This record gives sequence, C-alpha cells and structure tokens, in this order.
Amino acid sequence: MEPQQRSPLLEVKGNIELKRALAKAPSRLPLPGSRLKRGPDQMEEDLEPEKKRTRGLGTKVATSRPRATALTTVPQTQGQTAVPKVPRKTGPRCSAAIATVLKNQKPGPAVPAQKPGTTAAPPVVGRKKPSKRPAWDLKGQLCDLNAELKCCRERTQMLDQENQQLRNQLREAQQQATALGTERRTLEEELARMRAQAEQGQQELGNLSTRVLELEERLGTQEGLVQELQKEQLELQEERRGLAAQLEEQERRLQASEAALSGSQAELASLRQEAAAQADLLAKREERLHGLEMERRRLHNQLQELKGNVRVFCRVRPVLPGESTPPPGFLLFPSGPSGPSDPPTRLSLSRSDERRGTLSGAPAAPTRHDFSFDRVFPPGSGQDEVFEEISMLVQSALDGYPVCIFAYGQTGSGKTFTMEGGPGGDPQVEGLIPRALRHLFSVAQELSGQGWTYSFVASYVEIYNETVRDLLATGTRKGHGGECEIRRAGPGSEELTVTNARYVPVSCEREVEALLHLARQNRAVARTAQNERSSRSHSVFQLQISGEHAGRGLQCAAPLSLVDLAGSERLDPGLALGPGERERLRETQAINSSLSTLGLVIMALSNKESHVPYRNSKLTYLLQNSLGGSAKMLMFVNISPLEENVSESLNSLRFASKVNQCVIGTAQANRK
Ligand code: ADP
Ligand code: MG
Repeated sequence: MEPQQRSPLLEVKGNIELKRALAKAPSRLPLPGSRLKRGPDQMEEDLEPEKKRTRGLGTKVATSRPRATALTTVPQTQGQTAVPKVPRKTGPRCSAAIATVLKNQKPGPAVPAQKPGTTAAPPVVGRKKPSKRPAWDLKGQLCDLNAELKCCRERTQMLDQENQQLRNQLREAQQQATALGTERRTLEEELARMRAQAEQGQQELGNLSTRVLELEERLGTQEGLVQELQKEQLELQEERRGLAAQLEEQERRLQASEAALSGSQAELASLRQEAAAQADLLAKREERLHGLEMERRRLHNQLQELKGNVRVFCRVRPVLPGESTPPPGFLLFPSGPSGPSDPPTRLSLSRSDERRGTLSGAPAAPTRHDFSFDRVFPPGSGQDEVFEEISMLVQSALDGYPVCIFAYGQTGSGKTFTMEGGPGGDPQVEGLIPRALRHLFSVAQELSGQGWTYSFVASYVEIYNETVRDLLATGTRKGHGGECEIRRAGPGSEELTVTNARYVPVSCEREVEALLHLARQNRAVARTAQNERSSRSHSVFQLQISGEHAGRGLQCAAPLSLVDLAGSERLDPGLALGPGERERLRETQAINSSLSTLGLVIMALSNKESHVPYRNSKLTYLLQNSLGGSAKMLMFVNISPLEENVSESLNSLRFASKVNQCVIGTAQANRK
C-alpha cells in the first residue's frame, strides 16, 4: 500500500500512527478484500480441509474405481471407503444399504473413514444363510439361483448406477480440484505478492522509522527554534510597542514643532520685514554717521589748527630719591585765569644771580622767569594725564593728518620716561608710545564698524652723530646695525624710507611691547661707560597708519612720529679739552646743530617760508613728512626740578618758548 501524499508534519504523524499500528500487529498487514484480511497461515488452514477433502475424495475416487469394479467381487478391505462390505448374497435390504451409502457419498464433506461396524448399512455378517436346498431340489435351487441372479443383476445395475454416479462425482471432484488448484496458485501468488509487499512495507517502515527519528530530531530543533523565535517575537513586539510609543511621542513633538515652526515662520516674515526696514534705516543712519564722521574729522582738524599746528607742553619731572630738594619758590606753577581748577599753562623759575650779588656785596634778589605754554605739567602729573592731552592729536593721525611729537630737554629731565615710560613695565608709568598705539588700535576697531580698515607698520631708528641706526635690528645686526640711509621710497615719491631698517606690521599691544623691548636691548648693547649714547642720540619711533573705506573708496595715510630727542645740554666751555671731551664736543655740536635746525624748520614752517631747511640735519630730513603741510606737531619740553640744572632748564624753556611763540603767533593769526 502506498501512503497518500501529505504535508511533512501530517505525514510524520501518520507515520507514527502507522508505526504504532504495525507495532501492535506486526504480522497483520491490512490486506485488500475480505480474503486478504486473513493471514497466509490461516489461508493455508482454510485451504487444508478442501485439500483434505479433495485428497480424501481422490483417495476415495482412486480406490472407488477398482473397488467399484470389484464390487461384483468380494471387497478385500473394510473401512477405507464408505462402501461397506457387501455380502455376497443380499436382499432388498442390501440394495437399500447401498443406496444409503451412495446417498452419503454425495458431494459434500468427505465422510471420514469409519471404523468397521460403524457403517450406515447394517452389517450382513451374522445373517443367517437360507437353508441349503437338498440336492434334489433342483427346482428350488434353480429358483434360488434365479433369485440370486436377479438380485445380482439388480445389484449390478445398482452398482453401475452407483459407478456412474461416482464417475460423475469424480469428474466433479476433479473439476473442483482443478478449480481449487487454480485458486490455490492464485492464492499462492497473491501470498507471495503479499509477502513481498509486507517485506517492502517492513523496509518502508524501517525507512519511515529512521525518517521519523530524523524528523523528530528536526522537530525538536525546529521546536527549539520556534521557541526562540517566539521569544524573539515577544521581544520584538515589546520593542515595537516601545518604538510605537516613541513614534507617537515624536509625532506629537513634530506636530508641536510644526506648529511652532509655522508660528516662527510668520514671526520670521515679520522680522524680515522689520529687518528690511531696519536695514533701510541703518543704511540711512550709516550714511548720516559717515557724514557726521567726516564732519567730526573736519571740525577736529579745525580745532587742532585753532589750538595750533605746533603746540608746546612743558613737563617738570619730580625730584628723585637722593636728589637735593630745590629751595621753595624755585619753580612755581601759577594758576590760570579761571583759578586752580584751570589746567596750568604757566611756569615761573627763580634764579639768583650770583654775579649781581657779588657786585653789590649783598645777595641779590632772585630773578623770576615766567613762561607760558599750551599746557604745563607739574611734577605730580601722571602719565595718563599727559596722554589725555595728546590723545586728540593721535586721533588726528587716524584721520589722515601727520602727527609728530617731540620730547626736548637736557639729559635726565624725563624725556624717555615721557615717551616710552618708567622702568619695570608698570602700566601706571607706561609712556606715550604704548598708550598712543593702544588708543589707535581701539579707535581703529571702533571705526571698523563704520567700514574703515586700518593697518599699522612700525619702525624705530636712532640718529647718532648724523648716522641712522635701526633699533629693531635682530640677529647679527642686533646692537650694531648696518649703515642705514634715508631715501625716497621711489622716484618722484614723497614717502621716505630708511634702508636696512625693519618695518614691522603691528596690530596689538603685545607686538608693540616686544618692539620697545627689542629697542631697549639694542640701545643697551651700544652703551659705553664713558658715553651714555642714548642721551646723545635722537630716537625716532614712526608708525605708518593706513586707513581704507572700501565701501566708499576712501583712503587715508599718515605717519605718527614720536621722537625722544638727544640731551639738549651744552658742554661747559671752561672744561679742558681731552680726547674724550673732543669727541663729546663733536657729538654736542651735532646735537645742537640738529636741534637748532629743528627750531629753524619749525619756524620756517610757521612763517610759511618757501624754503624749509629739512636737509640740514638727518632728523629734520627724516621727519619732513611729519612736519610740513597739515601736520600737527607737539613738543614736550622736559625740565629738571633741581636748582643745579636751572641753567639748562632756562635754555630749554627759552628754546621751547621760541617755538611756542612762533606757533602761537600763527594760531593767533588764524584766529583773527
Ligand atoms: P632723559 O631721557 O631725559 O635722559 P629719563 O627719562 O631717563 O630722562 O629720566 C631720568 C630719571 O628720572 C629716570 O630715572 C626716570 O625714571 C625719572 N623720571 C623722569 N620723569 C619722571 C616722572 N615724571 N616721574 C617719575 N620719575 C621720572
Ligand atoms: Mg633719555
């Protein structure tokens, strides 16, 4: 039997059931048809009676024929056949017995062999023979013989009939036997087929069992997998729930964000409108601001011109520790017309004339010398106070006007202190150079908001004995410096440049500090015991300022020069002239020459003379662009507070006064 096609799982189940069924009845395979429901053994058994019957019949048939033929004779054996031993002489009872026998031998189950004496026909033995007729009774004997003959004939006839019947029976039996043989063969074939089928079934069963085991194993694995997957599914479901919650939250947030966004967009639109309006306003304001800035520059310049293009400030340094205090009234700072609240502009110096005293024999009253300047700074004035006064001038440099600031005075009067600052890097005593640069950087930063871009390039040189040396030299040139020359930047150019000198772009205070430090180092290297060179040379710090307003195509450029002049003291003419003094005299002459040239240049400029003697000294030649035209000039005259320096102080004050008067005259003329 072929199993039907099923799904693997159902097949497995079916196979398991089949296996169980087979295990319960291993030898009872389900067979088609009622016959096949019986086992081959049973069939054999079933066949057996038939065989037996046939055999019995055969035997009977095989024996019946000779017996039948011998019926006429006397039967030899008893019990082998159903035919009883017939007595030689039988009567009607004998015929009846034969008939009974024949009736019993009709087709049907073969009559089992009977024991003698158990036959249906009564045994003839014991029957009393008729009494023998006397020999003489021939008639009677004949009669008996006739009767016997008749009986024999009847019997023969009966036996023939019986024979005939038996033949028929035999034929039938033979036919039946043939049919049964055929059936048997069929059944045997069927049996063989069934056995083959059973074997095949068994094999299939084996295969199926193996497969069942495999499948069970696979099922186990699959079940494990299914469990894992179920677990995973649960986890994923959990995760999905979490994600769904998150999604919901995100969607909610998105909606809120969208609402906020649309609100913001509306706000943005209005803000853009507002911004456009503001930009418009801003442009107008910028325009106005620019106009105002230009106006400020013009007015600022006008103011500076009214104040005078050349101004003189007098600064008196304090008495230093270890110095003798001057007598009271030696230096006086009379207050201005508005009283002590006015910044001082006047200074009185008293000098006792020893020569006059000796002539009269009594000490003469000291002579009072009064001076008036744009501003006077008494000894207590701080660096910040001084710078405040010049910050407006520095502003002019940013506006495009050349600015030049000098410090004039004898050695030790405080020129370097005023220009560079005091020792120790204390911000309180920072000088004009660092303060001016810080101011410039900060104002340039403010002006960048109005579209101005500024750049600054610094240089620092000293002029000693009419030679120029770079104070910013580094490397091998440090401290010594090569020969520097003042040249025009190009043919036909107004701009001057110092060859071999460094021009360093600066943009912050720290860079300026580094430059000043380097300059101090360079001066220290050049210093000798006999010759305090720094006091015998002019130090010129120059800053080239360039500004540009790209939006309006405006440009401005101007130099800011801060000059620490050489000591203005003169040599004592009574001194004996040794080799050192001669050298000193030469230096002094060079200094005096350059300082007087400076005075002459200033005067020529203020008198608007056609010829200005710039070329008479290196200093004025280098500074010519910072002095002429619309340039602003400021001179600090530094004064020592000591009585012993009174002569030099008077000289300085007289020189400054000359400059001041000359300039004031110009300023006053402008005012008219
Ligand atoms: P110069 O450069 O004119 O030769 P310095 O600037 O070197 O003079 O000053 C000489 C000394 O006086 C220095 O020690 C300096 O610190 C000091 N000095 C100058 N001016 C002042 C001042 N306004 N306040 C305090 N000390 C000063
Ligand atoms: Mg000095």
